[in-house]
Amino acid sequence: MTTIYLDNNATTKVSAEVLAVMLPYFGNFYGNPSSMHTFGGQVGIKIREAREKVAALLGASPDEIIFTSCGTESDNTAIRSALASYPDRKHIVTSRVEHPAVRSLCAHLAKEGYRVTELPVDNEGRLNMDAYEKSLTPDTAIVSLMWANNETGVIFPVERAAEIAHERGILFHTDAVQAVGKIPINMEKNAIDMLSLSGHKLHAPKGIGVFYLRRGTRFSPFMIGGHQERERRGGTENTPSIIGLGKACELAARYMEDENTRVRQLRDKLENELLARIPHSRVNGDRVNRLPNTTNISFEFVEGEGILLMLDRYGICASSGSACTSGSLQPSHVLRAMGVPFTMAHGSIRYSLSIENTEEEIDLVIETMPEIIERLRAMSPYWQTEGQACATPS
Ligand code: PLP
Repeated sequence: MTTIYLDNNATTKVSAEVLAVMLPYFGNFYGNPSSMHTFGGQVGIKIREAREKVAALLGASPDEIIFTSCGTESDNTAIRSALASYPDRKHIVTSRVEHPAVRSLCAHLAKEGYRVTELPVDNEGRLNMDAYEKSLTPDTAIVSLMWANNETGVIFPVERAAEIAHERGILFHTDAVQAVGKIPINMEKNAIDMLSLSGHKLHAPKGIGVFYLRRGTRFSPFMIGGHQERERRGGTENTPSIIGLGKACELAARYMEDENTRVRQLRDKLENELLARIPHSRVNGDRVNRLPNTTNISFEFVEGEGILLMLDRYGICASSGSACTSGSLQPSHVLRAMGVPFTMAHGSIRYSLSIENTEEEIDLVIETMPEIIERLRAMSPYWQTEGQACATPS
């Protein structure tokens, strides 16, 4: 059975070209880039080239790029650096729909005595900008808002939000883990101070990330050790992955057009066909300001986990908007923040595409899904009572 992989917001396949440039650095070229000898120095040159490629994708300068181990580390670095750089300020502004890399850290910091404001979103997952402006105070050390949401793909107006923060002298960080490579980003044209990205979301390997730090921004390192990354992140460089990430960024720039046309069309086809063929289904999130590869669809009166298990039998990979915690299915914090009704949130599925997906794959999912939902609804006591009643006009 072949796999149809529609879970690219969870992780992506390392592209063949990326793997090819990495392999020599596991083999013959194993030198330490910090060594004085030519054997290590040649690896250092490759790291410099990779840094230039990452910077080019972001419209940044290479000295603003710091390699880290993952998106989570970059998020932690940004927030902790701001708090350490402005020790008199004790307030953090973020949103209710952030990834745990930001949200759990903020919850942890709240226990340490920081005040955290989690901004609400509306029922389409959009940020409330009035609430945002009102939340900023002279005590605010940092604003951390994601560029694009991992579950719904909804894009926040982070460039405008960064300008507002700057007018008040507040640092602005964005978790752009889901945005980089999918939508154009140009750091030369915005006021964002810090940005996080993660290699494994754009066809580079897991375990490599980037922390972008605008030149001149106050900074306090999170990982203290050797002189690597100009003393901004200690630890011997993950050479093969850095080189792979450089290639992945070069490819992302090349395929951005494809992502925004072909991938978007496939996503739209999948979404429109599923909505048309399956009653009691709806899209979660703003359909206008959204990543081109993501759709989050709720199928009422069924459980997401059931859908995933059935999809799995056909080799189709997606993910659900609820998680099994201590025996009970909890809708995700993102769908709850959007006020998605319980019966809808339970049956939500995120399909996230990539440039690797084909129209044949999408057609197969479109053919398979109605049958799966029908079978699950036939077993659902809610569908028997409430669902059928609304489905059959009297
Ligand atoms: N932020 C967002 C929005 C994500 O989607 C993820 C991963 O799913 C992360 C942060 C964490 O990235 P990493 O897995 O590289 O730590």
